[in-house]
Amino acid sequence: MKNVDIIKLSALEIAEKLHSDELSSRQVVDAFADWIDKVEPKLNAFIITTLEHAKVVADKVDELVLRTGIKRAALTPENIKQWTPVRVLDQISEVAVDKNGELHPLCGVPIAVKDVVVTKGVQSTSGSKILEGWIPQYDATLNFKIKAAGLPILGKTNMDEFAMGSSTEHSAYGITHNPWSLDRIPGGSGGGSAAAVAAYEAPFAIGTDTGGSIRQPASVTGTVGMKPTYGAVSRYGLIALASSLDQAGPVTRNVADAAALQDMISGHDPHDSTSIPEELPMNYGATIGAELKGLKVGIVEELDGDGFAPEVRKRFDEAVAKIEAAGAQVKKVSCPHFKYALGSYYLIMPSEASSNLARFDGMRYGQRVEGETAEKMMMNTREELLGDEVKRRIILGTYALSSGYYDAYYGSAQKVRTLILQDFDSAFSEVDVLISPTCPTVAFKLGEKLDDPMAMYLNDIATIPANLAGVPAMSIPSGLAEDGLPAGIQMIAPQKQDSLLYRFGAALEKLLPSIECPLEID
Ligand code: GLN
Repeated sequence: MKNVDIIKLSALEIAEKLHSDELSSRQVVDAFADWIDKVEPKLNAFIITTLEHAKVVADKVDELVLRTGIKRAALTPENIKQWTPVRVLDQISEVAVDKNGELHPLCGVPIAVKDVVVTKGVQSTSGSKILEGWIPQYDATLNFKIKAAGLPILGKTNMDEFAMGSSTEHSAYGITHNPWSLDRIPGGSGGGSAAAVAAYEAPFAIGTDTGGSIRQPASVTGTVGMKPTYGAVSRYGLIALASSLDQAGPVTRNVADAAALQDMISGHDPHDSTSIPEELPMNYGATIGAELKGLKVGIVEELDGDGFAPEVRKRFDEAVAKIEAAGAQVKKVSCPHFKYALGSYYLIMPSEASSNLARFDGMRYGQRVEGETAEKMMMNTREELLGDEVKRRIILGTYALSSGYYDAYYGSAQKVRTLILQDFDSAFSEVDVLISPTCPTVAFKLGEKLDDPMAMYLNDIATIPANLAGVPAMSIPSGLAEDGLPAGIQMIAPQKQDSLLYRFGAALEKLLPSIECPLEID
């Protein structure tokens, strides 16, 4: 197979070809590595690549399968979800086998990981100068799972500093360009993961979503992004932004890949006290043979009005018509408190962030700017090494939490959060799934909203309610809208019903126009 054909395969297609020995893992990693070398100068989707190590892991997987006769577990939904590492075979690649002595079914399929994820032995900066050169001594649980399953990691993807932003322009490591149009934003904070997947630099990637950072980048790059139910994927080892909202999840080019990746990284983790103790139903299994017949679907009235670009709405309306034609019942549902979601989020998120980010003081991690006293050193470090958006949120959060204002700001925001939960409860008593456009517009121009935080925040209007309520939400491409750029449709389900979203998403993606990033690199 030619390299150009390899990089366009989905993650599950690559897995199939590895299982049938049509491809070796090394061949796959080489194909992505070559392409990354070509396109990275234009995209800057990665903060660092780890291609040499990815090749070592790929070689190890190939060697284990071809020479030592160790088998991959069969490529079934059950195995993808239930495979559990019991023994690491090799300290360098850290590939493991399960109790049957078998490798993970997805072993050998490469992946990209957002830089907010703590990765042992590999610089983890969360997009910030303050963590430049920080090499963690442990792995986030999800990264441990990826390594044990034998997925070669291609690199750490670019992001807004500490995951604050909607454009990846707030990264300390340069801006990431949207592969659909290089002068546009790739979304944020996880613009790097979305751009990498859209531009075929990786078959799939890890993102994190506190207010939309998986779904909004997916929407503007024509990819699939899933924010799982809060607690479905361990937060242990994610550099915390707002702990009650943060959730890691997949960024992919189709729904089945997202389901498989979530199945692989999710599950209870004793290191994360908010992780869901029970097993959730299978996701990848739910995508197989999925259809829409009989589902009750609600259009969120409050997320379908002014402020949404005409063609974004048009693609959404066309999707609704197709959902109805496929046998689902569609009706409008009101969530009257959603209009306060943005205000509530931009108090709760900065409040939690101001506390979480207190640990970056020049003492414990990463970089330091010296000063005469410990206090001056901390001041100098934070003054010089944190970016403007991060400082803005720390100031906002500290203010909202200060004794005289706590009830008025943080307290009220928490009350609004409860009202939003109640909106969801009452909506889900009428319908199975809620839908809306994922974001109000297609990708805007780089620089366009950089000096206007409010305009930037308004991007998150449709994605934030799901974080406040902890419910799962997915974005898939709805087609091309303004300027021929991708738009997204968002689906939201009740807590722990991620598999229902995968079923809905997999059925819907077959009905919607399939779009392909036109990236041509000379
Ligand atoms: N755009 C949102 C923000 O700036 C999203 C953050 C996120 O999900 N990490 O807060």
